[in-house]
Amino acid sequence: MRLPEPALIVLIGPSGAGKSTWAAGRYRAQEIVSSDGLRGVVGSGPNDLDASIDAFALLESIVDARLGRGLTTVVDTLGLDAGRRRRWLDVASRAGLATVAVLFDTPAEECRRRNAARDRPVPARVLADQIKRHRGIRSDIEAEGWGLVVRLDQESAAPVPRIEAAGPDPDRRGSHGLRVFLQVSRFPWGAEPIAWLRDVAVAADEAGFAGLAVMDHLIQIPQVGRAWDPIPEPWVALGALAALNTGLQLGTLCTPVTFRPPGITAKAAATLSALTGGRSFLGVGAGWWAREHAVFGLSFPGPRERLDELERGIVTMKALFAPGTKAFSGDGVELPETTCYPRPGGAIPIIVGGNGNRTLQIAARHGDACNLTTSDPDRVLERLAVLRRYGDPKVTVLDTTVVGRDRDDVWARVEKHRGRIPAAAFAKRSNAGTVDEHRHRFAELAELGVSDVFVATPDLGGAEAVADLAGLTA
Ligand code: GDP
Ligand code: MG
Repeated sequence: MRLPEPALIVLIGPSGAGKSTWAAGRYRAQEIVSSDGLRGVVGSGPNDLDASIDAFALLESIVDARLGRGLTTVVDTLGLDAGRRRRWLDVASRAGLATVAVLFDTPAEECRRRNAARDRPVPARVLADQIKRHRGIRSDIEAEGWGLVVRLDQESAAPVPRIEAAGPDPDRRGSHGLRVFLQVSRFPWGAEPIAWLRDVAVAADEAGFAGLAVMDHLIQIPQVGRAWDPIPEPWVALGALAALNTGLQLGTLCTPVTFRPPGITAKAAATLSALTGGRSFLGVGAGWWAREHAVFGLSFPGPRERLDELERGIVTMKALFAPGTKAFSGDGVELPETTCYPRPGGAIPIIVGGNGNRTLQIAARHGDACNLTTSDPDRVLERLAVLRRYGDPKVTVLDTTVVGRDRDDVWARVEKHRGRIPAAAFAKRSNAGTVDEHRHRFAELAELGVSDVFVATPDLGGAEAVADLAGLTA
């Protein structure tokens, strides 16, 4: 069972039902607001009932502060007070968070047994009263307006199920249904560029990635780093990786048509394909960043003209990749002959990057795949509806994401990279999550018809960081 994020999660159940245990197994300590915990802060310990008023005052103000920032908040109290539940629900709804009531329908006998085993059991009469009240409110909850009501007996309280690995796939498709590519957009290679590149590629190969894509920009883009960070010419960098004996597909994501005449890009991709025995792909786009064009003396026409260029560029590339040397004429492209040797070592998929309608039309008409720069399922669905009007190319997505070992690690990374963006907004935008959470997301994307995902992470320091991502490809 997977719960929405970010969300208000209110636990409801008598003492000993397993609320605190359930929460601790799924959420970070900071995300859980517990009345017992706060009794221990302002009172003598979790059982100090004299401290209840102060503890609850704190609890309410913590809940408000967290929800106000859009942060997931798990409220660990008995959950039996309808007035408090209504208020939390209201605050969360106004803050735009999902709302979840989790009802612990643990058998009364089990609650009593666990309570008796505690250092300081709740008096039997008190527990009996909680159990009775819990039974009484079960039907109320349905009418309160929760986004989701989850009922837990002991069976369903099991940890998040894993997607079972299906075994190795020659195509390197994971058991979630996607091929996972590593997109390399930052190059913190220090004094040893070639060693860094090699180690990253070997680690990606060992981690089961289907391929490695190098970002194509002339100046490091502000979304990724600083203008003085190294950002290599990608075809040269890919040439170095071609010398490695990996099974990785190699290419760019994406090469703007404004950078090089399309025939020259075709030449580079065909050469890479020949050098790798057919392991090259070619991501192309219309280009978007005026500054790098100006600095490198390139013209940067308006969007319509760039898209025209993109369309003609793909037509040119395909003509040059095609067998034979005959003349080509069509779609505004005239080539007196199409002599291009070495021949590619295999088909070179052309992946068209971007989300715009015209871009999707170009991808459908001339490309082999599109590359959406969103991995949000609703947005993907909406873009696919547009794409399908024009044709049926493969669908790939760029997933700029934060991956952590566990929930604590995820949020440490969010805190590191969020800059001035509020943590909740950054986490959402970057789909921050654990490897397992990403695998579930990939399975959802596969169901929508996505075939490949290009993962770009801000934590790509080097080979070790790549190895940490291995679970994504299984
Ligand atoms: P709470 O009062 O609802 O917060 O319950 P706790 O989470 O503190 O759990 C009460 C006792 O039940 C603790 O000793 C837990 O170790 C135990 N417990 C909680 N959940 C489970 C469970 O799913 N299975 C088993 N066997 N014991 C559990
Ligand atoms: Mg508890």
